[in-house]
Amino acid sequence: MELDKMDENDWKYHGEGNKSLVVSHVQHSRVLRLLKYPSQDAEHTQQRTEQAYRHIHSIVDFSKNVMKPLLGEAYVHSGEVVNLPLEFVRHLSLKVQQERPELRCDKVMDTFSGYALCLPNLTHLNARHFGDHRLPLCVEIKPKCGFLPFSGHVTKECKRKVCRFCMHQHYKLANGKWKRQSRYCPLDLFSGNKQRMYIAIKHLLEEPQNNFKIFKGGQLIFSCTDGAEQQPDLSALAQQLRPHFTHSTGLYKGHLSAKAVLNEFIQVVSSALLSSWNCSRTGEPKKAHPAEGRGYCEASPVHRDLHRNGTNGLSKDSVLGRILQAQMLDNLDIEGIYPLYKRVEQYLEEFPKERSRLQLDGPYNDSFLEWVKNCPEEDDGSVEYAIGKVHQYRVAMTAKDCSVMITLAPCEEDEVLESNLEIQPSKPRLTYSVSILDLDPKPYDAIPYQHKLDSKIVNYYVRSTHSKQ
Ligand code: ATP
Ligand code: MG
Ligand code: ZN
Ligand code: MG
Repeated sequence: MELDKMDENDWKYHGEGNKSLVVSHVQHSRVLRLLKYPSQDAEHTQQRTEQAYRHIHSIVDFSKNVMKPLLGEAYVHSGEVVNLPLEFVRHLSLKVQQERPELRCDKVMDTFSGYALCLPNLTHLNARHFGDHRLPLCVEIKPKCGFLPFSGHVTKECKRKVCRFCMHQHYKLANGKWKRQSRYCPLDLFSGNKQRMYIAIKHLLEEPQNNFKIFKGGQLIFSCTDGAEQQPDLSALAQQLRPHFTHSTGLYKGHLSAKAVLNEFIQVVSSALLSSWNCSRTGEPKKAHPAEGRGYCEASPVHRDLHRNGTNGLSKDSVLGRILQAQMLDNLDIEGIYPLYKRVEQYLEEFPKERSRLQLDGPYNDSFLEWVKNCPEEDDGSVEYAIGKVHQYRVAMTAKDCSVMITLAPCEEDEVLESNLEIQPSKPRLTYSVSILDLDPKPYDAIPYQHKLDSKIVNYYVRSTHSKQ
């Protein structure tokens, strides 16, 4: 990419979240991820530019030095910081404005600093697929927190029975964030049990909200729509997916019903989520410790019988296993973290210069990772313990908010594949690759907000479900 020859016509709107806007190159498999600000703070000052510079570097450092070692080299692409010509950024911002969904327009793209992240476009697959006319598919899942808190600090009984996502749904519906309730429950997705995972993914299809998207040939073909009151059109989706799920070998050839296409699609996605990079080398995949006894959410629509016999466990090296282990670094719950945050704050009042040694705002380097890894088990009353736990909590927060990208591409009959890249040899032949994106650090200063939000969500849930009984 030649930074002095950037042309906005080479880039198109790709998507956005709450913190950043992404554009993709029309030819090369690259994206630019630009920061966003609330529109009222979009005033240009030198200080803001410096802030953006530091922020974007801290994003790369956190992803590369902290999350990547925890989640696995194979899954994480941290990208690099680029300094774009301001004129290009301004033209780009005008160009993408009309494509932005209304629900995201409370923020504006940063057109002042020129800093952005350049990343591989994960909706494309790197492997060549020899002349196949079928475009690659990419499924993006934002799985959210996959376990129930097990901390002794939890005060509300319902937090041990109903997962955060399911409780949060009630709160979001009441506040008008979404019009329809999602029946997705992360605990089913993270169960490692194929039947429960199937149901979880089916619920994502029925109500994607911001947890589920599908791209075809790099284009978004399925996601939530602005203010959607109706169920998404699943038969139109099946139509789009059908070419990839038509058997070319096996007993029958040809047309599958919409239901059968979606069925196969869900199975392929869950196989990719369960697969491990090195299970073929090490034999039996290692099972992650998780979830036993705390892997069931009472609000999940999955039938209780499935819950009872349903902990197959995830392989530790599967993408979901890795994410869950990082999430479970939050082993005190926000209710246990908040007093430790206050301990740190009190210490800083006395020794404000310690803020940098304690790495509260980074730098996110190897020594930050050491804080996370070497935190003592027992609270000895020290500020070091408090810091270790706070850092662990922040890593877990990032892992609760990341997205998984699964890219699927058809492969030819005679293509020679590494066996672990091939899903279901008797089924439609697809190669896949799995990555994790959106691994930004969550600010230390957000802990009091998280603490308040937690009690709002729980209190609302308790009130609203009790009044119905
Ligand atoms: P959130 O609100 O979830 O925190 P965010 O503002 O941090 O989101 P991202 O999730 O990183 O932003 O990016 C927004 C969207 O852009 C993603 O959901 C994904 O669809 C797309 N995207 C981001 N990075 C890539 C990439 N490397 N390749 C392809 N698509 C990407
Ligand atoms: Mg995101
Ligand atoms: Zn749940
Ligand atoms: Mg994010």
